[in-house]
Order: sequence, then C-alpha cells, then structure tokens
Amino acid sequence: MQSISNTGAGVIIQDIAAVIVENKAHLSEIDGKIGDGDHGVNMAKGFGRAADRLDPLGTLTDALGVLSDVLMGEIGGSMGPLYGMTFADMADDLGTTETIDAVAFASMIRAGLEGVQDIGAAKVGDKTMIDTFVPAVDAFDAAISQGKSFSEALAAMKIAAEIGRDSTVDLVAKLGRAARLGERSRGTLDAGAVSCCIILSTFADSITA
Ligand code: ADP
Ligand code: MG
Ligand code: MG
Repeated sequence: MQSISNTGAGVIIQDIAAVIVENKAHLSEIDGKIGDGDHGVNMAKGFGRAADRLDPLGTLTDALGVLSDVLMGEIGGSMGPLYGMTFADMADDLGTTETIDAVAFASMIRAGLEGVQDIGAAKVGDKTMIDTFVPAVDAFDAAISQGKSFSEALAAMKIAAEIGRDSTVDLVAKLGRAARLGERSRGTLDAGAVSCCIILSTFADSITA
C-alpha cells in the first residue's frame, strides 16, 4: 500500500469513532483516577455523533470537518476544543488532495499536532495527549526519512504512540485538572494520552486494512 484515495476515506473516521465508543467506560475510568471521570463520555458523545452524521463514502477531508465541528460546537471539557482544533487543522491541511500518500499523511498529522499545541500549549512531559502525539508524529517522519514504506511508517507510528501513552504513568501532571494533584497525579495513565493512542492506532489500522 503506497497511498489511499481521499474519496471513500471518510470511513476511517467511522472506524476511529467505533473504537472510541467501545472504550467509553475505560477512558472515563482512567480520567476518574486523577480527573473528573468524564473523558470517555465526552469522547464517545463527540465521535459517536460525528460518525452518525458523516458520509463514509465521502472524503476524509469532509469527515474530519464534521468531526471537528461536532467537537468544537457540542462537546465541553478540555478535549472538545483541543481535539476539535486538531481535526480542523488536519482537514485544512489535507484539503483537496486526492491521493493520500505518506507525504500527505505526514503533513496532515503534523498540522493536527501543531493545531492542538497552538491552543493548548502543552509540551512533552506535561502528562497530556501530547505525550502520545509528538513521538508518534516524529516516528512517522523518521521512518519515511529512512526510506520505509507508508505501511511501515504507520506501524512505527503506532509503536511510538503506545510508548508515549505508557510514559505518562510516571509523569506528574502540569496542565489541566490533574495538575491540581501535583505529585499525587504520578502513577496513573493520562486519559487524553490513551485516547490519542487509540485515535492514531486506529488511523493506522484503518488505512492499512
Ligand atoms: P476535562 O479535563 O475538562 O474534564 P477531558 O476529561 O475530556 O476534559 O480531557 C482530559 C484530558 O485533556 C487530559 O487527560 C489531557 O490529556 C488533556 N489536556 C488537558 N489540558 C491539555 C492541554 N493544555 N493540551 C493538551 N491536552 C490537554
Ligand atoms: Mg475529564
Ligand atoms: Mg470535565
């Protein structure tokens, strides 16, 4: 697999939504340990509504647009606006590109990462979704520069996302609700880092399927 067509790739967002909805209770349970326990509820509501409204036979660009509109307009908490901006910037970057190859995918995920960092100002080590997102995007780029194929780069992205997710266990939260706990936030995963890993891993699986 060297590339996929943008048209028809709307289904990728439905695939991601299905896995987010499946993990609703799991994500809220993780958020409940150092946050307010609503992450799974917020995410399942946003992704579930987007999945119902988007056209799976349409473009990935349009599906990302539907998802970002729902997240920004209808979902509260930190993640509505943060993921809303991520997917809006991915949609803008992808635009009318018809063939999504490794270069187009790299550019799209980098734009999404920069979008969330622009508004959330989180850095690696703050115990947020960024601890998953940054190493995943960097691993994809590194694989491509080493001459790996699109599928191999997606596999590398998945592994890096999992390692990034797991790195949040030992971190003290610096941002968001969990930061109020200081040292007591150490010892549990960050909920956003887990959802970000689900999103990126399912992106990879759905493209390679
Ligand atoms: P809330 O904290 O408002 O209840 P959620 O529970 O849906 O919202 O989301 C919590 C997640 O938001 C955290 O686990 C963390 O990963 C993420 N988060 C919080 N603040 C930021 C930020 N500034 N940048 C990136 N991610 C953040
Ligand atoms: Mg919460
Ligand atoms: Mg909340």
